[in-house]
Amino acid sequence: MTVIDVRSLVAKKIYRGELAFEYVPEEGLNDIPYVKFSGPVSVKLHYEIFEDDSVEVKGSIAFTLTGACSRCLEPAEERFTGEVDGLFVTPEGDGETYGYQNVICLDELLRDALLFALPPRLLCERCAIDE
Ligand SMILES: [Zn+2]
Repeated sequence: MTVIDVRSLVAKKIYRGELAFEYVPEEGLNDIPYVKFSGPVSVKLHYEIFEDDSVEVKGSIAFTLTGACSRCLEPAEERFTGEVDGLFVTPEGDGETYGYQNVICLDELLRDALLFALPPRLLCERCAIDE
């Protein structure tokens, strides 16, 4: 679980920063048959804490899928990237924003970004050219 400790950052008068880390995704998020994550998800984020205590978190994720081509079942591997863009408000989000109290937990935002970035299928190089 990766967090941004907003309360202690504000106490130190730090209002923006960057984070870079990797994490192992839940395998269940990917539902392409015979395909799995190859290695961790790389995350690069930038955050900004505004005067009203809302916090914008933006950046990117990158991950590799490996397994069988969804069309011909030959080995396939591809690197994907996705966008991370979330606004955290305190104490509660409203469906378009995420809620937080003192400390932001990034799990839900990263999960949403990963679900959005996951392709519907994985193709080998030959099938990708045929598309
Ligand atoms: Zn193929």
